[in-house]
Amino acid sequence: MTLNRNGAALITGASSGIGAAYAERLARRGYDLTLVARNRRRLDALACRISDETGRAVEVLEADLTKKEDLAPIETILMQDTRLTMLVNNAGVGTAAPLLQSDVDTMEKMIGLNIVAATRLTYAAVPAFVARGNGALINISSSVAISPEALNGVYGGTKAFLLALSQSLHHELAGTGVRVQVVLPGAATTEFWDIAGMPLRDLPAGLVMPVGEMVDAALTGLDLGEFATIPSLPDIADWDAFEAARRKLMPHLSHAHSAARYRARPGSP
Ligand code: NAP
Repeated sequence: MTLNRNGAALITGASSGIGAAYAERLARRGYDLTLVARNRRRLDALACRISDETGRAVEVLEADLTKKEDLAPIETILMQDTRLTMLVNNAGVGTAAPLLQSDVDTMEKMIGLNIVAATRLTYAAVPAFVARGNGALINISSSVAISPEALNGVYGGTKAFLLALSQSLHHELAGTGVRVQVVLPGAATTEFWDIAGMPLRDLPAGLVMPVGEMVDAALTGLDLGEFATIPSLPDIADWDAFEAARRKLMPHLSHAHSAARYRARPGSP
């Protein structure tokens, strides 16, 4: 990689879909890239095309992020490579099958990728970013983080985890020079849906955004300084109201006594 103004971004799940779109856009914005996924052939093809088109340096790391032995070298790179200025935690899988039609081993594997891998990579990258006073962490969550009824509940839970982790880090890292953005896309045109067992053609067309448009919106949200970006949300005031309602609850979530409505009432057993 050559040194450049923007530094370099490490993108997980970059062999297709949202991650591949981030790779193209970030290279055009002047980032060198490290692309991570399992499919080496796809990663190599994308890396060649992007470096030909943009002149950026693009490295490829073949890794199954559910395997500790594959994760460890990527954690080391995030801790030690001072050129890295951005981590996009994007690799993820989902399922549309409800609890009664899905098996727990598959759910555990999903948690391993969507939660454990993203957490380990965050723990590797963030202290290095903080030490340099510069960096951006982008977590690809999902709209199901706040609408878990829409798909499988464990998948929604993994995406709610990423939202909560991002909210906490946004608070914890204020003033360090490190940006945190969480992206909550609705349905986008990727292979995600085939893998999740619900082909895209079965979704109402009006709910599905072209993946490039989705990633362009997310990067515009980053430029606008947004913490949470919901690419399809028409009015950001609706997110602000949701957030304000959460903050209104916060001073009342821990008190020395239970609320009056839970205390024994005259005549109750
Ligand atoms: P996708 O095209 O299926 O991409 C998933 C990426 O993750 C691929 O690059 C895949 O590459 C990689 N991946 C899967 N398992 C992996 C593993 N064990 N180790 C390393 N990499 C792995 O789907 P996508 O829509 O772009 O998904 C990207 C993220 O967006 C996911 O976190 C998903 O939850 C989120 N999201 C998607 C949508 C949507 O509608 N598409 C909506 C909201 C959120 P390899 O197979 O080469 O490993």
